Amino acid sequence: MKKILAADIGGTTCKLGVFTSDLELLDKWEIHTDVADEGIRILADIHHAFQSKIGRLEYNTDNITGIGIGVPGPVDFNNGILNGAINLNWTEQMPIASQFEKISGIPAIVDNDANVAALGEQFKGAGSGHKDVVMVTLGTGVGGGVVSNGMLIHGHGGAAGEIGHTYVDYNQRFQCNCGKKGCLETVASATGMKNLALHHYANGMTSTSLKAEIEAGSLSAKAIVEAAEENDTLALKVVDEVAYYIAVALSTLSAVTNPKYFILGGGVSRAGRMLTDRIYNHYRPLTFTPAYEGTEIVLAELGNDAGIYGASRLVKQFLS
Ligand SMILES: [Zn+2]
Repeated sequence: MKKILAADIGGTTCKLGVFTSDLELLDKWEIHTDVADEGIRILADIHHAFQSKIGRLEYNTDNITGIGIGVPGPVDFNNGILNGAINLNWTEQMPIASQFEKISGIPAIVDNDANVAALGEQFKGAGSGHKDVVMVTLGTGVGGGVVSNGMLIHGHGGAAGEIGHTYVDYNQRFQCNCGKKGCLETVASATGMKNLALHHYANGMTSTSLKAEIEAGSLSAKAIVEAAEENDTLALKVVDEVAYYIAVALSTLSAVTNPKYFILGGGVSRAGRMLTDRIYNHYRPLTFTPAYEGTEIVLAELGNDAGIYGASRLVKQFLS
């Protein structure tokens, strides 16, 4: 039976997986991502890792259907080209799919890492059994992926699902990495939580258990969540505001794709029910009723494995 390979390339590690043709995970492991010299060895390292795991004799198209690769940057999905990835020191356009095929002889399909994570959660994780799912990853930034009728949505320029850059803070208080202001990422990522806490502190909410960390410049999103769990007024205001802005974005998305599940992942989602309950309470009154009925806001289940599951699914969908 032919195998399917998957790689989820991150700035520090590459997660690798070997799957059966029915997408059962056979083996998974990680290798270091060597970003030195403009990341020139990254693809070859992945190739060698699979070759030594599978064995030279079986590492060919008779035994392997293909490899799915998730990358941390914008991707031209139809051509398998990555338009630069800062975390990997890849500053130029990289034809990942064709380069990997050249090195290994194995057909490759490439997509953005947030997209493959969404696809992984849709078919094997929190969205399992449903074809319409939106994933929102609340990490240092805010990533996202939209799965509609079982397929990822890419859009004409590949920017579909960039939920972090939907416009939600109409006061435009904070600068986004994308160059604009008011994006979800500026108020709902780990950075966004700090933005809000510092903003309210500067505007007079100084009676908080976070005072020392704020004054020392060492405030973290984790500390805010922990303080909220202890009913700190400032921290609770921040968590509620984060939930509101996520709800605004989900409300719009509901009227566009009407998903069964919104799946929240990433570090900020570790706030758990404290966050999801608040999001849901804001989301319902904001949203067109037929677009939210039956829709659930849930936490991701696959953790760091979502990417390899999604990448393997892409192989199944497009290369087999
Ligand atoms: Zn932005």
